[in-house]
Amino acid sequence: MKGKHIPMRTCVGCGSAFPKKELLRIALTPEKELKIDPAGKLPGRGFYICPKSDCLERAIKNKNWAKKFNLVPGQDLISALKEAIGEEEGKVGED
Ligand SMILES: [Zn+2]
Repeated sequence: MKGKHIPMRTCVGCGSAFPKKELLRIALTPEKELKIDPAGKLPGRGFYICPKSDCLERAIKNKNWAKKFNLVPGQDLISALKEAIGEEEGKVGED
């Protein structure tokens, strides 16, 4: 039996690769707005981040990903990300 191919993506915070489903996707809409895409279904370009506040802090500081997309992450997005990541982090031992 062959192992299943697991799609890997790189976190913009820590720069490590993880299975796509373990990361949170942020999509860039054609209007150049960033949207959190928990289902990974929004069309267009996007990037991935670990659902960890550490990685979020690092991503906010290094901003390489923002340069790549030629945009500035607004306070709105940062707050929304913090909220989304906080929820993910809070999911411990939940059934
Ligand atoms: Zn990370």
